[in-house]
Amino acid sequence: MQYDVIIVGAGPAGANAALEFARSNLEVLLIEKESLPRKKPCGGAMPASAEKLLSIDISKVVKNRTKVLRQYHNYEKEIVKILHDDTNAPILINRSEFDMFLLEQARVVGSGNLEIIDKCRVVSVGESPQMVHVVLENGKTVEAKYLIAADGALGKIAPSIGLMQKRKFAPSLDAEITTSAQYYDKHCDTMVMNYFCVPHGYGWIFPKDKNLFSCGVLTWGKALNLNKELDDFIARSFPGESIENIEVSGYPIPIYQGTEQISTQRILLAGDAAALVDPVSGEGIRFALHSGKISAIVIMEALKGDTDLLSDSISQKYQKMIDEEIGKELKTKLSFASLTFHSSPDMFYKIFLKR
Ligand SMILES: Cc1cc2nc3c(=O)[nH]c(=O)nc-3n(C[C@H](O)[C@H](O)[C@H](O)COP(=O)(O)OP(=O)(O)OC[C@H]3O[C@@H](n4cnc5c(N)ncnc54)[C@H](O)[C@@H]3O)c2cc1C
Repeated sequence: MQYDVIIVGAGPAGANAALEFARSNLEVLLIEKESLPRKKPCGGAMPASAEKLLSIDISKVVKNRTKVLRQYHNYEKEIVKILHDDTNAPILINRSEFDMFLLEQARVVGSGNLEIIDKCRVVSVGESPQMVHVVLENGKTVEAKYLIAADGALGKIAPSIGLMQKRKFAPSLDAEITTSAQYYDKHCDTMVMNYFCVPHGYGWIFPKDKNLFSCGVLTWGKALNLNKELDDFIARSFPGESIENIEVSGYPIPIYQGTEQISTQRILLAGDAAALVDPVSGEGIRFALHSGKISAIVIMEALKGDTDLLSDSISQKYQKMIDEEIGKELKTKLSFASLTFHSSPDMFYKIFLKR
């Protein structure tokens, strides 16, 4: 079967690309290896500005908006920021529900041109001058004019086509903590960032759903004993009697390096697959949504026959748009993160927290 576009991965990058294509007449196939909706270890926090990257209303799946941010430097030097403007309050979502909602909306607003296959892994991808050829784990081959590789941090497509050869990852653990309703109600308005409570990293606490907190740790250095760091962080942050259940899961966060090529003539990497993650906070949902959207826009322009975008210039156009709309912000943060997280925590406090 031949499609205009194949999207691999049903995370925010792949789902938002599908949403962008929804109102076009293009034949789009999205392939996901897990059974949908699928779970993804994630704090589920994104800035309010992420909403503007979506063409739909997401208020139905927004679980919380927090107005208070408590920041610490290794449990000390508390700095509290209170937002007085609701419209800028960070958004908390449940990832399996949010990602699935985007896909469902792509179907609802679309003209029936989106096909979704889940529980099916892409095992290999090949590119010829006219087509991309995709082999699925059920032995079938599908083809398309373009492919968006939104297959996440550990995605196999990029390395298999010679991209992202020097990928690096930050280890991270997320504990979903169910608490008593009384404890949740008292703390549901507050996000906590505890910088350097783990070496070269931080811990977070996000009230992300009714009686549920995401409490996690991330290090930009080596994870010597991240499970213990997480246990300590939980023990020092939650009164024991408030906790009803804890579920821990881990996943790597790609480290943005700033100079990598993220596309070929017919294959565009989006989201974590392109390591588009904030090098200070590890935030990736917003950049996954944004790059998914840009990849779809570039492909739609190319398929419209825009002469500026024929053949090899598609890759250049994508790379340029990503650099301008995402890369500039990430590069500035990368310089700051490289300096402070590894060698100068005090500078982090003075420049980042006290600003
Ligand atoms: C512990 C933790 C906490 C985090 N907290 C936050 C947070 O609070 N806020 C934030 O902004 N970011 C957070 N992030 C980062 C965020 O989760 C990612 O940046 C985001 O999920 C990237 O989206 P994506 O669509 O690129 O990839 P993913 O969401 O990883 O989706 C990729 C999809 O591709 C599928 N796939 C992979 N290979 C194949 C294949 N061969 N065939 C078919 N399908 C395939 C996968 O099953 C998956 O569903 C966190 C990350 C971690 C690990």
